[in-house]
Amino acid sequence: MNNQWDNRPEREVRQEICEIGRRIWIKGFCAGNEGNHSVRVGENRVLCTPTGISKGFLEPDDVCVVDINGDQIEVNRKGRKRTSEVKVHLAIYKKRPDVSAVIHSHPPHATAFAIAGIPLPEGIHPEAEVFLGKVQTAHYATPSKQALPDSLTPLIGPQTNSLLMGNHGSVSFSATLIDTYYKLEILDAYCRVLMLTKQLGHANVLNPNQMKELLEVKQQFGLPDERLACVDKGCVGDDNGSFLASFGDSPASASCSCNGGSVDHHGGNGHGTASGVPVQVNQRSNDAALEAMVQTITNQIMANTRG
Ligand SMILES: [Zn+2]
Repeated sequence: MNNQWDNRPEREVRQEICEIGRRIWIKGFCAGNEGNHSVRVGENRVLCTPTGISKGFLEPDDVCVVDINGDQIEVNRKGRKRTSEVKVHLAIYKKRPDVSAVIHSHPPHATAFAIAGIPLPEGIHPEAEVFLGKVQTAHYATPSKQALPDSLTPLIGPQTNSLLMGNHGSVSFSATLIDTYYKLEILDAYCRVLMLTKQLGHANVLNPNQMKELLEVKQQFGLPDERLACVDKGCVGDDNGSFLASFGDSPASASCSCNGGSVDHHGGNGHGTASGVPVQVNQRSNDAALEAMVQTITNQIMANTRG
């Protein structure tokens, strides 16, 4: 992994930290003084937001400077103290030298999943798959304690860029602050779509072949995804059960007679997959397909009758 620390003039970085803070606040990702973000500008130098201030009203001089161990190494002109969650940021920087920006936030829709303890499903939405990849949820840990970064670091792989924190919020990280912010936006937008889908009562899930093709496209974008090596073997969607369980046509409740008997559904279109990987049922598509088939046969019979 290459170091990609932000080497722009620090004044520029400070201004961007303020601008991103405003966007985080306007989007409703952080209420009151919640949340924090940082940019690594050198091996032992990190710019971070101060504690106790709304991210919507930051000024460049509010930004604090810490070393890689979290000690404030410059007197802040406005007397600000660094965020108490800086340990989370530093743990990520230490594990991933290719990361130069971290945002910890409480985006409402994503946080709701972290509170409900429902893992984010895979194979649902191409945007989320390409730009986020697999997003895991860490167990709950008390904010500002060392237990919080300790709960996250085991989940950070070489391609991880987003994590949920149990009963708490999210953390996003990437090579630039603006890209990290995009990850946060995409994460909450994805969770909002999942909630809306839940209200509609039905979800189609990409089958392994569709996922493989998508991950190949992702790789062509220069975004490798380790799941590509195992998508055929069923490594995608292991944790989908919690999200899909309460749908009326969940795998637990659905069956079909497409193979001449009542079998559990496997495959996004209800007719199995080469790998046998369980994928969410598409009962309504099955019903529609059955209706279409009946209609086709009826039309043929009518045509033959007329002929
Ligand atoms: Zn927090």
